[in-house]
Amino acid sequence: MIPVTEDLVRRIPKVLLHEHLDGGLRPNTILELAEQLGVDLPESDPERLATWFHRGADRGSLPLYLEGFGTTIAIMQTADALERIAYEAILDAAAENIVYIELRFHPGYHTQRGLSLEGVMNAVLSGLDRGSRETGVEYGLIVCAMRNMDPSVSLEMAELAVNYRNKGVVGFDLAGEEAGHPPKKHVEAFHYVQRANGNITIHAGEAFGKESIWQALQWCGAHRIGHATHLLEDMVLDENGKLVSMGTLAQYVLDKRIPLEICLLSNIHTGAAESLATHPFPLYWRYRFRVTLNTDNRLMSNTTMTKEMWTAAREYNLDLDDLEKITINAMKSAFIPHKRRLKLIYETIKTGYQKLRLELA
Ligand SMILES: [Zn+2]
Repeated sequence: MIPVTEDLVRRIPKVLLHEHLDGGLRPNTILELAEQLGVDLPESDPERLATWFHRGADRGSLPLYLEGFGTTIAIMQTADALERIAYEAILDAAAENIVYIELRFHPGYHTQRGLSLEGVMNAVLSGLDRGSRETGVEYGLIVCAMRNMDPSVSLEMAELAVNYRNKGVVGFDLAGEEAGHPPKKHVEAFHYVQRANGNITIHAGEAFGKESIWQALQWCGAHRIGHATHLLEDMVLDENGKLVSMGTLAQYVLDKRIPLEICLLSNIHTGAAESLATHPFPLYWRYRFRVTLNTDNRLMSNTTMTKEMWTAAREYNLDLDDLEKITINAMKSAFIPHKRRLKLIYETIKTGYQKLRLELA
């Protein structure tokens, strides 16, 4: 058997479905753009700035985790800045052999200096497109509505997502602080996307219980769930951690093959899970839920796709076949057309793994 090493994980073809555009910036880029735009930063050295973001995020609470985004968003206010940040996200993905990436953001955050929503969308899509043409990494963009905002804003975001779907937008999401902001408050926006035959993913069960996951699926029509850490509440385990029974919600998620966008390190930082040892991922994996691994916010959580997969492999004893299965799970669950997904699975992911197996055998 081929031993899984960090270097091997870096080389395998990877798929990333859950990464926030405003949570994955390069520290150097933040410094340069802040200077151009006259934005004050707490640190002037890239490494110290990265540590500042990470320390701010690693406080065991989702509201505290979200604080650092005020700083990244402050410099994401011009078309040039947005284009560059989107472009660099694709280059970063290519550098660690991500072959398909879905990035998400809330366009309404980027109009503070006069950009229109269309101006924001066009800048981001143009950066993603430039990166993709240079590297061959394929992408999809997801528009986020924010849970704490008025439902009318969510509806506007839903319309934006649908209007841009032939230009690179592949789905619609609900993000932000979960407690006290149930997804069903935004049901009108989700129904709009549903009626337009659009794709929906929702952050649910991260900072709040299984009720939030249930609402996301059964009220809002989510096709995927972001995090789903609290789905564990719908399962009964014995003292050895073996599954004894599950409720109808967990059974539904399992049977309908609902993809779960698991973000291990971010969950530890927000307190969604206490530790890697008690994270429900290995249980979901063992009982054949459709799990995927993701970064959430590379800057805030001081992570990469390589680090997430390597952490999972080391912590939960995953072998190369397991990593391939998780990657194919993600590619099957992507919001691009079926034909393109199959092409990536058969011509890029499986062949990439095969090549590495032959080389290392
Ligand atoms: Zn997220």
